[in-house]
Amino acid sequence: MRRPYPSSTMSAPITADRVIANLIAGRFTPAHGGAIISVYDPATGALIATAPDSTAHDIDAAVDAAATAFPAWSSLPPSARAKKLHALADLVERDIDEFARIESLDTGKPLALARSLDIPRAISNIRFFADAILVDDHETFLHGGATSVVHHRALGVAACISPWNLPLYLFTWKIAPALAAGCTVVGKPSEVTPLTAWMLAERSVEAGFPTGVINIVHGRGPLSGAALVSHPRVACITFTGGTATGELIARAAAPTFKRTALELGGKNPSIVFADAVTPSNLLATVEGVARAAFTNQGQVCHCGSRILVAREAWDAFVPALVEHTKKMRVGDPLDPSTQIGALVSGQHLLKVATAVDSAVRDGGRLLCGGARFDGALLPERVRSGAFYPPTLIEGLAPSARANQEEIFGPVATLIPFDDEAQAIAIANGTRFGLSASVWTSDDSCATRIANALDCGTVWINSWMVRDLRVPIGGMRSSGLGREGGREALRFFAEPVVVVQSKGK
Ligand code: NAD
Repeated sequence: MRRPYPSSTMSAPITADRVIANLIAGRFTPAHGGAIISVYDPATGALIATAPDSTAHDIDAAVDAAATAFPAWSSLPPSARAKKLHALADLVERDIDEFARIESLDTGKPLALARSLDIPRAISNIRFFADAILVDDHETFLHGGATSVVHHRALGVAACISPWNLPLYLFTWKIAPALAAGCTVVGKPSEVTPLTAWMLAERSVEAGFPTGVINIVHGRGPLSGAALVSHPRVACITFTGGTATGELIARAAAPTFKRTALELGGKNPSIVFADAVTPSNLLATVEGVARAAFTNQGQVCHCGSRILVAREAWDAFVPALVEHTKKMRVGDPLDPSTQIGALVSGQHLLKVATAVDSAVRDGGRLLCGGARFDGALLPERVRSGAFYPPTLIEGLAPSARANQEEIFGPVATLIPFDDEAQAIAIANGTRFGLSASVWTSDDSCATRIANALDCGTVWINSWMVRDLRVPIGGMRSSGLGREGGREALRFFAEPVVVVQSKGK
């Protein structure tokens, strides 16, 4: 009999391989009161770790430690902070294979993806901000004999809250700029995937970060996360996660006017024009659109989950995309040939399956996928895992739920359009505004569409090409503020203007 899907957050009194601890004031400690969260490998259903189920008590201690460490850390020259960050990046690089293995175990994602994308990008994040802080960012303005100098002063204790889909990648994307800018950190990784943040905590001690500069507290959002965002001594919050959680955090931050950066959900369009579906480029377009839809099992906020196809290209493009999608290899995350691993948890699989079932009830027609992956087709080791095949659905109105709400799984819908104006209207017709991809060989069409889309990033004939210097983020329900490059460093600092007039 198949085991029921375990919940990643249910308490289990049994012991696991790894007992994760919080890092608070340089010490590894369990949650005050000793409560734990069980952590499962979603590919096998096995219990792999326990993490502290921290409370406001632990958050208080972590914020205290960070506040105590702040004056000394923020006073260090940027080069000294950069040195520590590079030392941390060196240690992650030294242990890259172990980090990748554990990230794959914790999330169900293919090991090859963790090894080629997640962990290398985490290392790049740390190194990028270590180097970026060395560029002098003070601005000077001369006016009427007075000199105004803008200094960027570190804000204080930064709360860094990250989700489960790209655990170390997104956690480092937050803590690295915070630390580089001179803030001290209380990090709260997702309770669903706490393992690599814990490994990073260990490496931060080995790298010699001063006590209290990096604190990492594990626990559930409504308990430890909520305590962190409402803590009066937290100066700013950088959050990546769901839109509903972002709204709760914005409310919690409001009474104390904490600065917030919110990177939230998306319902991103991939817009395919007929000139991208010719014999010479059909394959590249199909591969690009499928990659945008299904990378990391569709669990990337920028995934193109609505595929808008020019009606005249429909008959050439859609069967080719379906064919390609059916061939994607669902399998053991440890198998190098696997393209689609497990979803992050059984609970999340149920959410995805429920969304697909309701899309079908709403009139959607399944072109492929649409039911939990048949365990008999999987190796014995992963037979009871949370596998769901890449799924394509057609026949739904742009206003249908599956075209409006984020599913965050390997599920994409196909929608026809007749002309540019209709493509733009459909693309902009959700409450989200994170990103889009446009597939065309006509540069002027690409420019017109990019200028008309209400979203933070538009990729032309590509997806997720990322230069760490550019601002990334969303509009409307996809978030507030931008991460990346100078925007990120500025977020963690208060501009203070000193105006020097000539003495009489
Ligand atoms: P989530 O909102 O459930 O959780 C994210 C984090 O917030 C977790 O650490 C969680 O513990 C914490 N949290 C939950 N409730 C909280 C509260 N009340 N106060 C403080 N913290 C709280 O999101 P998730 O399910 O982990 O991640 C998936 C979502 O993240 C998707 O919607 C996805 O689109 C989004 N996401 C966005 C981006 C982006 O850059 N825009 C990137 C990745 C993921």
